[in-house]
Amino acid sequence: MELTKRQEEILRIVKESGPITSEHIAERLSLTRATLRPDLAILTMAGLLEARPRVGYFYSGKSPNRIVAQKLRKVTVGDIKSRPVVVRENTSAHDAVINMFMEDCGTLFVVDEEGYLQGVVSRKDLLKLALGTQNLHEVPIGIIMTRMPNVVMTEPHETVWQAAHKLVTHEVDALPVVRRVKAPNKSEAYEVVGRLSKSNVTRLFVELGEGE
Ligand code: ADP
Repeated sequence: MELTKRQEEILRIVKESGPITSEHIAERLSLTRATLRPDLAILTMAGLLEARPRVGYFYSGKSPNRIVAQKLRKVTVGDIKSRPVVVRENTSAHDAVINMFMEDCGTLFVVDEEGYLQGVVSRKDLLKLALGTQNLHEVPIGIIMTRMPNVVMTEPHETVWQAAHKLVTHEVDALPVVRRVKAPNKSEAYEVVGRLSKSNVTRLFVELGEGE
């Protein structure tokens, strides 16, 4: 957040002399209270200043960066996730490519007959296969997918910040959003309930930048 010169001045005065009333801030700046009102409102809304009735303004101790970080860490994966695009592992590589174009997504999640996550197929997996001489109609994606337990996942309650951290650390474009379920005869099972991709994170970044 960029502050005007006057807002910087107000912040400095409140840091030095807070709690301080708006009259006293106005006096120090040789301005009227009415002139200061919009600036004080902005600084209070941004979380930099706090106001107490009859006491005055005091500095919240939070830097603008910390405030942005706090906002960012409140958004959960469940708030911004997309619909997942799922396929079965016997789907041919050819059909997987068609699916990616039709659904406009670069990562497909592979599920078993009960809908539980088995693996992930990305554009690169399909490109690598296409470089060889194989007939894409004949190769099932089960052969080329990244399999459980190597799939990096996220959950709806996780923060977008944590999920974005995983995208960066594991160098992948998308994470399946899963819900852990107790499935009979399985040590662990994950139901796919969404998709969190770099596009979701970029969209959120743009929205936050607009001050929404
Ligand atoms: P792209 O192929 O579009 O560059 P990625 O960078 O996401 O997409 O994929 C790179 C590799 O990582 C592929 O082999 C893919 O199977 C694997 N991969 C993709 N997403 C995940 C994930 N969530 N967890 C584990 N591996 C993944």
